[in-house]
Amino acid sequence: MAEPAQMDDARRRYEFKKTLEKLQAKQGSGTELISLYIPPDKQIHDVTGQLRDEFGQCANIKSKQTRTNVQSAISSILSRLKYYKNPPENGMAVFCGTIQLGGDRSDLECTIIEPPEPLNLYMYRCSSNFELEPLKEMLEEKNVYGLLVLDRREAYWGFLRGNRIEPIGGVTSTVPGKQRKGGQSSVRFQRLREIAINEFYTKIGERASDIFLAEKDFFERFKGVLIGGPSPTKEEFEAGQYLHHEIQKRIVGLFDVAYTNESGLSELVDAAKDALKGMEVVKEKEIMNRFLKELVKDNGLAAYGEESIRKNLDLGAVDTLLLSSRLRKSRITITCQNCGHSEERTISLEPGKTVEDILATTCRQCTAPMIVDSEVDIVEELTTLADQTSTRVEIISDDFEEGAILYTAFGGIAAILRYRTGF
Ligand code: ZN
Repeated sequence: MAEPAQMDDARRRYEFKKTLEKLQAKQGSGTELISLYIPPDKQIHDVTGQLRDEFGQCANIKSKQTRTNVQSAISSILSRLKYYKNPPENGMAVFCGTIQLGGDRSDLECTIIEPPEPLNLYMYRCSSNFELEPLKEMLEEKNVYGLLVLDRREAYWGFLRGNRIEPIGGVTSTVPGKQRKGGQSSVRFQRLREIAINEFYTKIGERASDIFLAEKDFFERFKGVLIGGPSPTKEEFEAGQYLHHEIQKRIVGLFDVAYTNESGLSELVDAAKDALKGMEVVKEKEIMNRFLKELVKDNGLAAYGEESIRKNLDLGAVDTLLLSSRLRKSRITITCQNCGHSEERTISLEPGKTVEDILATTCRQCTAPMIVDSEVDIVEELTTLADQTSTRVEIISDDFEEGAILYTAFGGIAAILRYRTGF
């Protein structure tokens, strides 16, 4: 069954990210692109007041072209703000200015974004590109876990941010092995060894705690720490309370892993699957693994590639549709102006380029130029097709191994089928 709420969340995130990428690519010829951030509690008439001031200030701009462009942008924003009595629930960000389109072409463009989270700043800025940092921060992963793997010889730590494992660093110990050298007293050797182990654990605890506590907005975002290693080392480490108390009380669990170097981190995340259930990383990993398993079985239930997926969607044969969040493609309809011949195509989008830039095509029937009738993002288009047959849609990020494979090896479009179709 489809899970609309979660699907919508991933989709919104994808849309938002894509919009920011598009804005990022836009350039003005001078300092004439306006970024305006309005928090939810700001009065619109205060904003329009300031904009009128800025309009007056434009008289000081030396370049006539820049002056005209800034004034046009301000006028355009003012006319749009008329429709708002108050800012929307999360405030709004307005990006407006004359965009260079290459050659001698330019165009006045205005984009209004209602952000997914409340804006907490008011900002008016005029620059040669748009200021997007406050919105980009909203895309940052909110939930962070600390990862720590250890035995008596070495330890390694890092973070789990959404889907991504970020290795940080580790230490190795000089704890002597269990075999004592001849001539040493057993009791003395044992005691020295325990001291060395205690020192090593203390070092791990301090260093890992320092790294975890330094995480930005620790109290809001740091959801817990996972500890991996052989038994009874990890149990001993937990019992000894070597971690800072704020970290110690956030231990999610102890998990058996074989490696205690950098590769132990991903082993740890796999082992902690159940504890992390519900987290996106685990969900997406599981779906990708299901797909890869079907593919290996070679039973015809795994399909990939745009053409194959379209045929299977048509048949209503798709159980789960997997789309990479890295897809930047559009489905367009083009029509011949001369004979009316029309066809659909998929094109790859490049930042800063329009469909017309990318597409230079003539009619197959009469060789007259074709014009673009409609353009829709491919994720949106395929999702709409999928919705018609109650197909579950999963947008898979590319910042974990299996997710990256979806994009690089399968073109970003794959499916698990309800039955085999031969496509
Ligand atoms: Zn034609």
